[in-house]
Amino acid sequence: MDIKSASFVMSNSQVEKCPSSQLPEYAFIGRSNVGKSSLINMLTSRKSLAKTSGRPGKTQLINHFLINEKWHLVDLPGYGYARVSKRDKKTFQKFITDYFKQRQELVCAFVLVDSRHEPQKIDLEFMQWLGENEIPFSIIFTKVDKVKPKALERHVNDYNAVLLKTWESLPPFFITSSSKSLGADEVLAYIEEINQS
Ligand code: GDP
Repeated sequence: MDIKSASFVMSNSQVEKCPSSQLPEYAFIGRSNVGKSSLINMLTSRKSLAKTSGRPGKTQLINHFLINEKWHLVDLPGYGYARVSKRDKKTFQKFITDYFKQRQELVCAFVLVDSRHEPQKIDLEFMQWLGENEIPFSIIFTKVDKVKPKALERHVNDYNAVLLKTWESLPPFFITSSSKSLGADEVLAYIEEINQS
């Protein structure tokens, strides 16, 4: 998919106030510093689209971007340093859980994980929560330029092994590096494919 246009639409903290245009949307979420802003900028071929919404005070909001006048890319707050404990309760601020549970337009969530690390509890718990709430998701491994191929393979396999303990099938996953411009075509092709189906 060629990105012909990408523009910031709005930021808010209430799912009811998200855009009413009913366009399909794809949400990006992950731990703080996982490389989400860089990935969004890579996907959209814009230097600082994600930073636009990253003005102070905007980072803890639901940020909508309109892509090709056809779909919304949604930048969600990083789940950073908050300790994830009891699934649905304190996992995230309520507006994030509301967003996932109520937003009819959401087609797929992309959960970003840092490829340098072994599966992290916080990420696994979040994926578990998405699965339990029947929210389709894919995994995006970020910063693969920082990890040796063998270690990357091990980390991907480790995620798969943990997920297969609970679920019958695995979510799609993508290998990306914003520094090396890797993986954008695959993610965009996947979005295009679902948009057309
Ligand atoms: P966010 O907090 O998840 O939005 O993360 P950022 O996109 O701001 O990136 C966090 C840090 O990781 C920054 O210092 C980026 O330069 C760095 N970073 C992001 N993506 C990559 C990548 O693909 N490779 C490498 N080596 N560093 C990256």
